[in-house]
Amino acid sequence: MEKNEPPRPRNGLVGMLYGEFTDTLDDKVRYSVSLTEDALTVQKISSSPGRAKVVFNLADCVGCRAQRAPDSADAGAYFRAYFYPFKRRWMSAGVARQRVEQCFRVALVQDAAANLREAERWARAIRDAAGLQAPRRDGVTLWEVRRPCRVMILVNPHSGRGQALQLFTGHVQGMLNEANVPYSLVITEHQNHARELVKKADLSQWDALVIMSGDGLLFEVVNGLMERDDWQEAIQTPLGILPGGSGNALAASVHHYSQSPPAWNEELLLSCGFLLCKGQVGSLDLVSVQLASKQRLFSFLSLAWGFVADVDIESEKYRHVGAVRFLMGTLVRLATLRVYRGRLAYLPVAEKPDLPSRPKPFLPCSSISCRPDPDYSPNRANQNCVSKSSAKRPESDGKSRAPADSLLPGLDQPLPDSWTVVEEEDFVLVLAIYQSHLAEDLWAVPDALADDGVIHLFYVTAGISRPALLRLFLAMEKGAHLACGCPHLVYQKVRALRLEPVSREGVIAVDGETVQYGPVQAQIHPGLARLISG
Ligand code: ADP
Ligand code: MG
Repeated sequence: MEKNEPPRPRNGLVGMLYGEFTDTLDDKVRYSVSLTEDALTVQKISSSPGRAKVVFNLADCVGCRAQRAPDSADAGAYFRAYFYPFKRRWMSAGVARQRVEQCFRVALVQDAAANLREAERWARAIRDAAGLQAPRRDGVTLWEVRRPCRVMILVNPHSGRGQALQLFTGHVQGMLNEANVPYSLVITEHQNHARELVKKADLSQWDALVIMSGDGLLFEVVNGLMERDDWQEAIQTPLGILPGGSGNALAASVHHYSQSPPAWNEELLLSCGFLLCKGQVGSLDLVSVQLASKQRLFSFLSLAWGFVADVDIESEKYRHVGAVRFLMGTLVRLATLRVYRGRLAYLPVAEKPDLPSRPKPFLPCSSISCRPDPDYSPNRANQNCVSKSSAKRPESDGKSRAPADSLLPGLDQPLPDSWTVVEEEDFVLVLAIYQSHLAEDLWAVPDALADDGVIHLFYVTAGISRPALLRLFLAMEKGAHLACGCPHLVYQKVRALRLEPVSREGVIAVDGETVQYGPVQAQIHPGLARLISG
């Protein structure tokens, strides 16, 4: 029988609900169940001493639902809660998120409707306490995806080992159903399909755009959004990433930002799926990249030249082995180590940031299509609040094509005195990165955040030996490369950079995608986009 006890302090918290329910398989096994703000505590009621108590942390809960008993003659009802706590791995050391389902049978009275109501009351209370219905009480620095939210999930069926779709159905689909997240799956048919699709999409229909692929597909989505006339609102659509490619740097970074212990492959996927279900949204820096052709791209991960770019692009042919392709590519490239001649300059991060810090308004996604627009003019008042696909602004409106790069002179113009020009001209690699991870197992920037407003610039000068370079990459697995004391490795926090290759041949990669080879410059745009993260 259920006892509704008055709220009472428990570990400094107020007890929310208490009840006694039976096991779903055996009516004789009974549990006492209590819900507090932080935990669901389950204790078997039996006459034997040492009754085991199991405590489920509600931070690990993605959903809870109630249902009637399948047999119509049965007056009982059920509620099921889905948790993904960190548990010890079976085969190897350490912990990873693993699924645990808890189901209870409610059979207080002979009235099926009353039992279902009680099960629903519990399911609602658990979802509430797990932060799955309303914004979290402590969510001052994070936005929440409004629930229920509609998510577009773009899958690149050819990414990684060509198994993104199977990985999605095997590891994520069930979790999204448990969390009651409505989504539509879009399978890309060709390169730039996702880019064209989000460029034209009616974004008022979507609360989040999620990709299940490697970093390349998100690069398409980010640039598709930034190519829109309403880029300023469009780029506020929360973005999510589910690792399904061979290069899953952002997924590894997002997992790392959530302060979870390292995870790879399916465990990383489960972790990112979990974060998607929890639906917390933070800011994401973007970097504007200007090429000699005057083309401008937006990047969320990296700009690479030399060794790293070569490995990234050349290892494409080992895509079938998955993330190990980078290690294979690294070993092959080491054997034919090259030196690249060029000029590098950067604008260092000032000791005290000279940029005004941006206020972070709380705006649920539902209001994205009505977001105040700094370009707002009364004549466009109507256009400001309609669905984005129809919110085309006339060319004569003076609209700006994406944000101005205030730190960058023209690519053919001299740099201001505030810039530092690197004296070396022979490099093994130049890597500008703005996330913590360069690949699943390459922790490039130990203290990077998705929205730290910083481009982390690394370069390795010529003269480094092959073993020393290999040591750097091996140390990077643990984020220890800066502690190697390698005199050829330089690290600088910058806001902008310019690179002018002199070597006639080479590869420049932006977010792992090859771009035009030649002079290139870039600057950070702090917090321009939004990212589903922990
Ligand atoms: P991976 O990490 O395995 O490289 P990516 O997400 O980076 O996976 O995708 C690799 C490339 O495939 C990117 O250039 C992306 O633009 C492109 N792409 C996306 N969808 C498709 C598709 N349906 N067919 C072929 N290429 C695609
Ligand atoms: Mg890729």
